[in-house]
Amino acid sequence: MKIPIFNTYISPKANEYVSRVLESTYLSEGVKVKEFESQLTSRLGWVNPIAVNSGTSALHLALVLAGIEAGDEVICPAQTFVATGLVVLQQKATVIFADIQYESGNIDPKSIEKKVTKKTKAIMPVHWGGAPCDMDEIGAIADAYDLTVVEDAAHATGATYKGRPVGSISQFTCFSFQAIKHITTGDGGAVCCLDKSDAEQAFVKRWFGIDRAHSQPSILGERQYDIASIGYKYHMNDYAAALGLANLEGFAERLARRRKIASYYRNALGSIDGIRPFITSSDRESAEWLFGMHVERRNDFIRALQSREVTASVVHLGIDHNSCFGGRRRDLPNQDKFNETQVHIPIHDGLTDETVATVVAAVKAGW
Ligand SMILES: *Cc1c(COP(=O)(O)O)cnc(C)c1O
Repeated sequence: MKIPIFNTYISPKANEYVSRVLESTYLSEGVKVKEFESQLTSRLGWVNPIAVNSGTSALHLALVLAGIEAGDEVICPAQTFVATGLVVLQQKATVIFADIQYESGNIDPKSIEKKVTKKTKAIMPVHWGGAPCDMDEIGAIADAYDLTVVEDAAHATGATYKGRPVGSISQFTCFSFQAIKHITTGDGGAVCCLDKSDAEQAFVKRWFGIDRAHSQPSILGERQYDIASIGYKYHMNDYAAALGLANLEGFAERLARRRKIASYYRNALGSIDGIRPFITSSDRESAEWLFGMHVERRNDFIRALQSREVTASVVHLGIDHNSCFGGRRRDLPNQDKFNETQVHIPIHDGLTDETVATVVAAVKAGW
């Protein structure tokens, strides 16, 4: 059977945990969501995580809380999934693409600085493949120009930057629990808020703008509330949270194994002619969601691996070409180069030592 590029990890405990929620018939947001949020903090070091129904919802909520509105500009890389840019458009703001670093696929702080205008309100770095961006440099630009940093950390569950967990660094950090991410809840996400007041607002806005914590049902049988500003139906539900709780167990061990596979790939493939694995600085630890590299003659590479039952994929090419973002940019030279040579090979929880060896052998056999 062909080795897939992704897999969905479901803990052996998942059936039991989810079944208990189903048996309780309490399916919507409740105690399990709270428990999940509290474990995201205790196990991963995330600051004030608010669980929602997707990573995209988390990103959108963060932009709402950052006050992004029509006429504002938000700077992000093109090397990402379309969700990063779409949430900016949902706020009727403008997406400004900064260039990336060719070696990593991460946004280049030098390019960000060149793109800042009077209209710029936020920067959205994306930790491509799980390798943290240059957060000190990005934070310094944000401070200098009074911008909000909203990290798209969909790939970066478990990553650290200079010893600090991603999820504890910027004003907002957004994670995804979509099916193929490190920890899945089916679909889901979380927005981490450094400021407690943002977390309180996120809590209210994820459920229509109704303050559940401070509204009581009256004798008439409806909660008494006043919606002061627009909210969304973005909350996570309890059976999703139960799946998340099951998948959080043993996460540290799963991440350690991913890192072991990544370092094995780097050693085994790094010196092959025509291959350059992406580079991560030694002051940060990647979550290794993807194993990416630059290869020569990429189509031949993908075809050769395919013939040996191994999937290789670009995962995403730069999103700027979509007409909703204004079409292909001509001022992103590193992105252009990256589009031409990047490729990823399988790294996930479904790999055994044997399949890892198969991947390495498939590459070493040449293309
Ligand atoms: C997965 C992903 C998202 C969106 O997450 P969903 O949970 O699918 O909404 C956003 N950004 C990036 C880079 C992603 O990979």
